[in-house]
Amino acid sequence: MIIDAHCDVLLKLWEEDISFKSSDKLQINERKWKESPVKVQCFAIFVPPEVPDDIQFQVALEMITIFFEKIIQPYDDIKFISNKQDLQTLKPNERGAILTLEGCQVIGRDLNKLKTLIRLGVRAVGLTWNEANAVSDGIGEKRGAGLSSFGEQVINILNEEQIWTDVSHISYQGFFDVIKRADYVMASHSNVSQLCDHRRNLDDKQIQLLIKKKGWIGVTFVPYFTRRKEPVSYEHVIEHILYYVEQGAEDCLGFGSDFDGIETYINGLEDITGYQEFQNALRAQLSTDQFIKITYQNFINKFPRVKE
Ligand SMILES: [Zn+2]
Repeated sequence: MIIDAHCDVLLKLWEEDISFKSSDKLQINERKWKESPVKVQCFAIFVPPEVPDDIQFQVALEMITIFFEKIIQPYDDIKFISNKQDLQTLKPNERGAILTLEGCQVIGRDLNKLKTLIRLGVRAVGLTWNEANAVSDGIGEKRGAGLSSFGEQVINILNEEQIWTDVSHISYQGFFDVIKRADYVMASHSNVSQLCDHRRNLDDKQIQLLIKKKGWIGVTFVPYFTRRKEPVSYEHVIEHILYYVEQGAEDCLGFGSDFDGIETYINGLEDITGYQEFQNALRAQLSTDQFIKITYQNFINKFPRVKE
């Protein structure tokens, strides 16, 4: 059983009218998902930066419609997850789907838009993508500024509403600003800098702060976040997991594959069905306790939302 904290299926379904059930263009479609050991999948609303500012929010709403109409409603065994109780009460034959946001540029400077997204079911909020927005600079903005005053208000709402603040993609300074203010912190899809030096990965100082903060970290399957040179296989992903564990992160660790958000793949992890062999390989390297925590239990334990 696996919980995966990040994919970009909604973007692909928004860009093109393809079948969620069976399209081969998707790394996660309903059939592949059912064949895989993934119990709960998070679906990110990611509105590309090319979309004009004045329709960013509208496109986010379109993706939420797609989430409910193409992923939740057609399948009796796929349940919409709103809170921790929903996660804990999934039946053996059921799967869970969680709505998340990647990038607060969709809300502009409007806290009502944030509150609306939370009401519609968003349960983790990535403050930025790579660009700067009204909340903070992203990791691709060379200015490197952290949280704005508006960003602080955003986090106050996320704390109040028991929603995860996601620091994957935020600027280096922004990371430390979030750690000071957010009650519930996650890095939904980030690997280890020490093993693969990439701006999207976490250095030891960041890893230690996430552990101290009782946050959550998702190891990701992006090949160029995993290893500098080809070929990249799932054994290299396991190296990142073992490094995190060595650093003391075994209670904070899980997965955020980034399926359907990447164009190149890790050998053995070309789509969601790859989790089967990957988890078998991982099981051999961890204690049973560690394996259970990392594959799903940490995510459930840390899931912040207990209210409706
Ligand atoms: Zn991303």
